[in-house]
Amino acid sequence: MSIRVLAPSLVSQIAAGEIIERPASIAKELIENSLDAGAGRIEVAAEGGGIRKLVVTDDGCGIARDELALALTPHATSKLADAPGLEHIASFGFRGEALASIAQVARVRLTSKTADADAAWQLEAADGVSDGAPEPAAHPRGTTVSVEELFYAVPARRKFLRREATELGHISETVRRLALAQPAVGFRFTKDSRTAFDAPPGTPRERVRAVLGSDFADNVLEVEHRAGPLTVTGWVERPVHAGGRADPQYLYINNRWIRDRSLAHAILDAFRDVLFHGRQPAWLLAVDMPPELVDVNVHPAKHEVRFRDQRAVYGAVRTAVSEALAATHPQAAAPADAPKTPPRPSPRPTARPEPVNRGFDWTALAVRERVGGSAYAPSVPVAEQGAIADRAPVDHTPPGGLGRALGQIGTLFIVAETNDGLALVDTHAAHERVLFEQLKATWDNGGRRAAQTRLVPTEVRLDPVAIERLDEAKDLLERLGFELDRISPEAVAVRAVPAVLERVETPMLVRELAEALRNEAEGKQYVEAAADRVLADVACRAAVRSGRRLTLPEMDALLRSMEATPRTDQCNHGRPTWVRLTVDEIDRFFRRGR
Ligand code: ADP
Ligand code: MG
Repeated sequence: MSIRVLAPSLVSQIAAGEIIERPASIAKELIENSLDAGAGRIEVAAEGGGIRKLVVTDDGCGIARDELALALTPHATSKLADAPGLEHIASFGFRGEALASIAQVARVRLTSKTADADAAWQLEAADGVSDGAPEPAAHPRGTTVSVEELFYAVPARRKFLRREATELGHISETVRRLALAQPAVGFRFTKDSRTAFDAPPGTPRERVRAVLGSDFADNVLEVEHRAGPLTVTGWVERPVHAGGRADPQYLYINNRWIRDRSLAHAILDAFRDVLFHGRQPAWLLAVDMPPELVDVNVHPAKHEVRFRDQRAVYGAVRTAVSEALAATHPQAAAPADAPKTPPRPSPRPTARPEPVNRGFDWTALAVRERVGGSAYAPSVPVAEQGAIADRAPVDHTPPGGLGRALGQIGTLFIVAETNDGLALVDTHAAHERVLFEQLKATWDNGGRRAAQTRLVPTEVRLDPVAIERLDEAKDLLERLGFELDRISPEAVAVRAVPAVLERVETPMLVRELAEALRNEAEGKQYVEAAADRVLADVACRAAVRSGRRLTLPEMDALLRSMEATPRTDQCNHGRPTWVRLTVDEIDRFFRRGR
């Protein structure tokens, strides 16, 4: 690398910004310089909140003796030669003003050795000027930049700094952001001589574990999506794990950490179906695209970018996260060696429902639940059901995914034997989830196809407010498969209901609908979001409740529905619907302490 002074035209082209706001900004600039220098290992040490002292050491290319002073000169850079290069900048720095700006507001000491120099050299600067010639020093190949007494000469700025602990927090966050983006570079961060983290070079996954901890690393879903020239990769937290606290949320564009409200919204929007309000999912997403599609030169510290096609990026991110979340059904979670094909049919074909989506006649359960008795007409005669239980061991290869139902614990949980252990399923939560997804599919089809039209409309009497509400939501309800007509201030005629809800008692269903719509008064422009909530509500209410024992074929049918339905890992409120215990885990449990 050789250092050049930029042409004045380019100097004005690059909007000069306020770079040094606080110690964390210095950390960012110095670490980026180390990365630009090809460092394989970077050490960051902060003392006194980084205000008293901040030191960054790398093993990069180093700075030659004769260029030490130049490195501290404004607009001196080795990284950018001419204007056309602006769009295609591969380096982090290119303005050539970071070191010069830092030297204006703090005491700076550069110590460096290049590969071909016999010795290291050191240069100190204060008030923006270096005092004299470089002096010999001891330093292995690479560079150490030591910054002391930030804002010593600018008391007004110093007053704006927060408590040391706060400034230290900002530095930590800065180091984490950069370390997460550069897993191949070793990072060590020490505060007041104590090691905060030490991450050796590794894979992205290892880096995430080292920097964000195993609680995050063990509870994420992988994101991998390509949309034209865009790719979106990374991890999102499993919805069942997301909490109310502010979780780590990291977004990178072409390997630069950025802040982007719109893309954060795209991610949350994808989570909307599976996460209860107020919960904050964690994520780390990297969006990559050709450099000409994004302008990184908007923000002085490059924390914000502008996209050529904002909507395309939004769509790609949203889809990428949705896909990752949709993969959270039991089949997908089965071990790699588990059969991915549908479960084998039982040796008695009539005794076991077909393992397809529609196999689970949940409406029957819902109806039976409501009327509390014999309305349920099982597809299998009761005598046969006993036979299944007796004969279950005949075919002893349990199907993949959630396996074969063995029975129920009380009325709440289904116990199933899987190919590697057992699964416990929360009956109500699982049923609710399957139902919600089926209703959503109806919505996505525009309702029509799934609507079950009645020859004789059912008249339902309700209070005028509820009738009004149903009437206002007529369009939305039609997309869900309902056809309702207001026939008087206190009655609607129900001409069609979604096929999946066909067997739910009509007056009750309509009353629940009106109830679900109650808080969606202003919904017009949020129709999709409102529909989701209405669907979730209806699903929750219609789902089988604990209180009745299921037959084995019913349990199996529910398990098969879960395997065939996306996003069934958690119910509509973000709680898990099932857990798996492998034989290994059970074994370990019994051997514990021996
Ligand atoms: P920029 O990074 O925009 O070029 P800086 O003021 O941050 O401007 O750095 C000026 C120059 O000093 C860089 O272009 C580079 O040549 C040299 N430099 C700074 N830090 C390092 C480092 N850690 N290793 C090697 N060279 C460095
Ligand atoms: Mg720089």
